[in-house]
Amino acid sequence: MAYDQNNIFAKILRGEIPCEKVFENEHVLAFNDIARKAPVHILIIPKGSYVSFADFSEKASADEIVALNRAIGEIAKEKDIVESGYRVISNHAAHAHQEVPHYHVHLLGGADLGGCFK
Ligand code: 5GP
Repeated sequence: MAYDQNNIFAKILRGEIPCEKVFENEHVLAFNDIARKAPVHILIIPKGSYVSFADFSEKASADEIVALNRAIGEIAKEKDIVESGYRVISNHAAHAHQEVPHYHVHLLGGADLGGCFK
C-alpha cells in the first residue's frame, strides 16, 4: 500500500490539524488520542512516512525504530504508569481495523484495562 500524504496523522505532522502534544523529538511525535479508551491513551508516531508496523519494521532506520520504542517507555514513565501497568498496541491493516494509514502505537493505561485488546 502506497503512503497517503493526506492521512490525518500526516496532516498533524505538517501542523495542518492540531493535536495535544505530549512528546516530540527528531524522529517521533506523540499526542493524546482524540477518542481516548483509557485515562492515558497516547498515540506515538514516527515522523517518517510509514503506512503501518509492517512498513515501519521493514523500512525504517535503526535510529527511528529505537527512537520510537524509547519514546513509549519515556512517556509511560512521565505519565507514572510503569508500576501500575500499561498496554502497547499497533493495528496493522484490515483484520486489525487500522483506521489511520500512518504507523502508530497506542499507549493505554491509568486504569485496569481488562483482558481484551481494544
Ligand atoms: P487505529 O485503529 O488506526 O489503530 O487507530 C487510530 C486512532 O486515531 C483512533 O484511536 C482514533 O481515535 C485516533 N484519531 C483519529 N483521528 C484523530 C485526530 O484527528 N486526532 C487525534 N488526536 N486522534 C485521532
